[in-house]
Amino acid sequence: MTEDARYEMLWDCKYCGQKKLLGLTHRFCASCGAPQDPGARYFPSDADKVAVADHPFVGADVGCAACGTFVSRAAKCCTNCGGPLAGGKDVQLRGEEVRADAAAFAQGQKGALAPNLYQGQAPPPPPAPPAKKSSLGLILGILGGVLVLALVALLVSVFWRKSGTFEVAGHTWLRTIDVETYGATRKEAWCDELPGGAKVVSRKREERSKEKVQDGEDCQVKRKDLGDGTFKQVRECQPRYKSKAVMDDRCTFEVMAWKRARTLKAEGKSLEPAPAWPRASLRTGTCEGCEREGARDEKYEVLFTSDGAEHACAMPEAKWRAFTKGQRVEGKARVVTGGLDCASLR
Ligand SMILES: [Zn+2]
Ligand SMILES: [Zn+2]
Repeated sequence: MTEDARYEMLWDCKYCGQKKLLGLTHRFCASCGAPQDPGARYFPSDADKVAVADHPFVGADVGCAACGTFVSRAAKCCTNCGGPLAGGKDVQLRGEEVRADAAAFAQGQKGALAPNLYQGQAPPPPPAPPAKKSSLGLILGILGGVLVLALVALLVSVFWRKSGTFEVAGHTWLRTIDVETYGATRKEAWCDELPGGAKVVSRKREERSKEKVQDGEDCQVKRKDLGDGTFKQVRECQPRYKSKAVMDDRCTFEVMAWKRARTLKAEGKSLEPAPAWPRASLRTGTCEGCEREGARDEKYEVLFTSDGAEHACAMPEAKWRAFTKGQRVEGKARVVTGGLDCASLR
């Protein structure tokens, strides 16, 4: 959203000292008649602001190439010497002024020129960056060094390995079956997302999501030098947002469902007797309290010894069977942590 208005720039006569002459209306000093110097224009304070009515904007003033007088862009030729205006130079513009909506403008700085006005000459060099090295940089440098060292140490501990002989010391296996029972299970969900057959036990209000809602707007006022003795004042606003909680009903409900009740386990510490699944007589059906088999799991480990240390390697059952007690195999041990690299066994 913008609101536009056009006002007169001000200028002071350097010959007679007359202050606050109008940029558009007073092309010559109202007191002594000296021509206006466009370089002396400045933004007025809010109190000194004079609106421009019904004066078309034709562009910034142009400087006569022959005598240097600045005249309106609407002029056919120089009002001072009569020379042509083609090839004349642009007027120097004041830098844009910006303030918060509630603040007021003080009188503008006469010397502040927009950066695009260093015509034909190089702009002043930017200020040199501060030379002193901050202690923050030093701390970051040390942290970086420590991080690199830690990474190197980690890589060494993982990849530095040496060959060795390992003796098969034994076998272990474990097989489990989950047993699930059918019964009332208490769960929680949004009340509009309940499964079929759910019996609501209680409900409460809870935050379900956030939404962005407008919370007023932020405005600023800008003044832009038009270069013809006037400036444009624009108010620009942008909506400000805040996050707002969206509440909804959260239900605690009961529903009939299968739920893990216990785990059957069978295990052994040798190749023979061969691993078998645990057995149980289940009360099957879909009654309340009925049972069924859930997930199965199995784990096979071969134990190795080397220099008095024991290592266990998990592997699939077929590979596990291929190792015999007392057998010696070649493998690689991690030098730093001392562990056996199970993938290296041959
Ligand atoms: Zn004067
Ligand atoms: Zn001229």
